[in-house]
Amino acid sequence: MQKALQVFSSKVKFHTIHQNSYLGSLEKGCTGSDVGLRECQFCKGTQQLIRNSYTAHYWIDCACGITLHSCHLDKHGAALCDMSGRDYDEQGSQEKFRTLEACQEAHKAAFLHVINKWDSLGQ
Ligand SMILES: [Zn+2]
Repeated sequence: MQKALQVFSSKVKFHTIHQNSYLGSLEKGCTGSDVGLRECQFCKGTQQLIRNSYTAHYWIDCACGITLHSCHLDKHGAALCDMSGRDYDEQGSQEKFRTLEACQEAHKAAFLHVINKWDSLGQ
């Protein structure tokens, strides 16, 4: 996870779109080898890209066509990638955060979650 944390610190940039609303985005071209991912359990390849779209939701695309998302639904239907987004803005948006700290925390949780999930596939 050390590599993943370094990538998180250096490649995820946080922005404010208006006062008290924060988003984060991962630089394009973040590869599986940047974060030390295991080989793909389906194709055994090592050509993966990690992506997000400003929200605290990350996914891994493999060259073989599979995609693994940072969220999954719990038994009540709640998306677990939203678990640390408790500091939502007034509109109740699940994608914007009122404080930079809450935004960073949620992004870090989602980023590490998808990497851990990928690395635990097949184990
Ligand atoms: Zn693959």
